[in-house]
Amino acid sequence: MSWHEGPGLGPDAEAFRGQVCGWLTDSLAPARTAAHADPRDRTGLDEQFERRLQRAAGARGWLGISVPTELGGGGRPASFAAVFDYEAAYHDAPLVDTALTLAGPPVLAFASPDQRDRLVGPMLRGEIEMCIAYSEPGAGNDLASLTSTALALPGGGYRLSGHKTLVTGGGKADVCLTVARTNPAVPARRGVSMFLVDTALPGVTLVPRRTMAGYDLWDVLFDDVELPADALLGTRDDGWRQLSYAVERERTGMFSLGWCQRLFDEVHRYLATPVDGETPACVGTPACVGAPADVGTPADGHRPLDDLRLADGLAAQWTQLRDARHAAARLIREELAGQRSGASASAAKVLLTEYAQRLAQFATEAAGPAGTIGGTLFGPAAPGAPAAGRFAFEYLFRFDGTVSVGANELHRDGIAASALGLRAPRPSAEARQPDRVPTRPGPAAQRPGAGSLGDAGAPGDAPTLRAPIRELLGSWRLGRLAGVQSTSRGYDERLWSALLREAWPAAAATSDAWLTTARVVAEELGYARCPLPVHSGLAQVDAALWALGDAGAKHREELRRGTTRYALCAHDGLGSPAWERAGVIARAAPDGSWRLSGRARFVPYADSADVFLLPARLTTGPGRRGLLLAAVPATAAGLRLTTHRTLSEDHLGDVDLAEVVLRPDQVLAQDDTGGRDSDRAGDRNGGDDGDGGGDGAASRALAAALAMGTMALSAELTGLAAGLLRAAIDHARARTAFGQPLAAFQAVRHRAADMYLDVLCARDATAAACDVLTTTAPEPLDDHARAVVAAAKVTATAAALRAATGAHQLCGGWGHLDDAGLHHYTRAVKAAEGQLGSPSFHRATIAHHLRGCHPAPAPR
Ligand SMILES: Cc1cc2nc3c(=O)[nH]c(=O)nc-3n(C[C@H](O)[C@H](O)[C@H](O)COP(=O)(O)OP(=O)(O)OC[C@H]3O[C@@H](n4cnc5c(N)ncnc54)[C@H](O)[C@@H]3O)c2cc1C
Repeated sequence: MSWHEGPGLGPDAEAFRGQVCGWLTDSLAPARTAAHADPRDRTGLDEQFERRLQRAAGARGWLGISVPTELGGGGRPASFAAVFDYEAAYHDAPLVDTALTLAGPPVLAFASPDQRDRLVGPMLRGEIEMCIAYSEPGAGNDLASLTSTALALPGGGYRLSGHKTLVTGGGKADVCLTVARTNPAVPARRGVSMFLVDTALPGVTLVPRRTMAGYDLWDVLFDDVELPADALLGTRDDGWRQLSYAVERERTGMFSLGWCQRLFDEVHRYLATPVDGETPACVGTPACVGAPADVGTPADGHRPLDDLRLADGLAAQWTQLRDARHAAARLIREELAGQRSGASASAAKVLLTEYAQRLAQFATEAAGPAGTIGGTLFGPAAPGAPAAGRFAFEYLFRFDGTVSVGANELHRDGIAASALGLRAPRPSAEARQPDRVPTRPGPAAQRPGAGSLGDAGAPGDAPTLRAPIRELLGSWRLGRLAGVQSTSRGYDERLWSALLREAWPAAAATSDAWLTTARVVAEELGYARCPLPVHSGLAQVDAALWALGDAGAKHREELRRGTTRYALCAHDGLGSPAWERAGVIARAAPDGSWRLSGRARFVPYADSADVFLLPARLTTGPGRRGLLLAAVPATAAGLRLTTHRTLSEDHLGDVDLAEVVLRPDQVLAQDDTGGRDSDRAGDRNGGDDGDGGGDGAASRALAAALAMGTMALSAELTGLAAGLLRAAIDHARARTAFGQPLAAFQAVRHRAADMYLDVLCARDATAAACDVLTTTAPEPLDDHARAVVAAAKVTATAAALRAATGAHQLCGGWGHLDDAGLHHYTRAVKAAEGQLGSPSFHRATIAHHLRGCHPAPAPR
């Protein structure tokens, strides 16, 4: 059993934690869970497994370990329940949302003796499943806007009607704890009551709503449900006070801490594990583009953590994890001392949920493109995915923490008020009479892909270019995404042909317009989240073929005519494009042909390419090195494709080659520098030559492709950021909470404004990259120009990632649903982050430039 750090709540609690950890390690061993995986359930496991495990925990007396003995519990201090929760989360055990954790506090506090007899025993023994259904389509954070009613019946009992939404585990609950208005004539705070509803009663309907992470939340519809009198929990019309009590105790931070520690340990393990044979996905040297080679070529046994940039990142995560742990532990200590404060609970919630998002971002970034290969917690591991696909899974999963159990904005308000005495002014009387009509914006899928945000323009922008592209994309809807993705190409072929036929050639007359076209097209595609292989199959390929001159002319013509589809194998799974460590090797055959063997990794839309532009390392003689750029038909004997199920939905694939025969006419360029491998050692430390990939035609073509692709990808990221901002603004305008549109809250406006500033920066940085390419290409870029292109990718990636977090935050629980469509953007952003060089790779390029140039003298 591997031992992991705990919350540090004293030796007794630690000893208990050891027992729980041992039991859970055994109970959740792969052999036990394998047959019970259920990705549609938030726990990842089926109901049968969950119920069995809960009963087993109950039989040990652990579910209610800290419940007072007079109520039937174990009577141990709160630190025992805390470490149990922590271990449950750490092990992904379906013991997080139990009847006791969800509904325990209000039931234990307010139930009548009869209700206690009926419920508390089964809750402690793990014999029933419960759900809590508070939220409604028009009432989330602002629960006082709820419209469900429970009208008293003359003979006793109530008639319950209403629509609850986003309910965790609704489909398997035996009993549902809910709130409804019992006195609609008075403000909600004085006229709601809590009810325990048997879900088998006539009139209760449960409807699954798929979330972006693949599991279901539930709509619970109450259609004139006749409740017996003893369904009322606590005091009639006193439900608001009970609700506040319940929500405040719904969860301690210990579950979040357990999840964070587990993910941290998984990332740590991944980065600390030596990689044999194959270069780790997260390590790369930007040899071809001439940026610094300050990470040595990893020999077998190299650990990703030996890369100082990754080590620094992990150290930062470790520090933040400790901060979060202290906050969670402080809350438990306060509870032990009977001094639990709202501010501490809010602080733990904010720190832990926001840290969980940052950690998931780090995990996926550190693992490179492989980190975006998705998995489920208990299903079969996705081939090639680090930590069995957990990183990609957690990236999507952790968006909800900052939204649920009170949005973090409200917790910040609470901290300001209770810890700092900074209270918001009371809303006006008008605002206290909220519009009770539930409001939801139309699904993103129905909104047009283009809008005013795309108009903000950048220096050198050509408005006349945007118009035809907008027109072309005018009919594109997110709703079509699933349709086109199920086709063999994975994108809209008619749109692709139209783009090649109309937008691209129109701009091709001059190189200036061509580059700007690439930027504008890519940005608009991002904005509409329309999948087309523009940066990989068009911009990069076009740039490489252009740089090759006559050697590339025939292919360039075919590319632009649309008769042949190309993909540039740019990545090689290095987390950065590094041709000199290309995974494919070219061996000269006696008849003048070549044999290609190896693997090119993470090629966007590999499955739709007719021809691969493929860099391969030459083995022309002992100790010699060189680079070859080949045009390899997808149908070549010995070539095999594997498409990954990644977050991006953009068909990232591996191209495996086994002794593929390459005719001399399929070689587009060949750089045989004649240098010995050992000569490269000097380059690595100094990096002064600025061109680690050599200056032959193949290297130049690949460098041009990389620069052009990076610029186009940065533009796409800019468009994705703008699309996310658009969705957030639409929602903030349309959604009413606390009697006003979300947009009326300063926190919301500031967040949107920050997202806007990010979009502007990204667009300007990308335009600047486009400018340097325009003045230089197809000639090789100097260090400054490379740094400018790298800066575009860094800025646009950061903007898009922040936009994703911001949009999910502002769109609340609705944004979490699959049919809201927001996640198509979020996925694309994460995938683009790792393509054509991670942010740290590009920062290294910038650092190389700064090392090589002299700072301006200090002014006198
Ligand atoms: C995974 C998941 C599980 C859930 N499980 C349950 C469950 O079991 N039972 C249940 O009843 N509900 C559940 N919910 C619903 C959850 O409680 C709501 O999503 C949450 O209360 C927020 O409400 P909302 O989504 O309507 O967002 P809104 O209230 O519309 O808020 C959206 C965003 O607007 C901003 N905002 C709102 N009000 C303010 C303000 N006053 N000041 C500043 N900014 C503000 C915030 O950014 C907020 O995130 C779940 C949700 C998720 C995502």
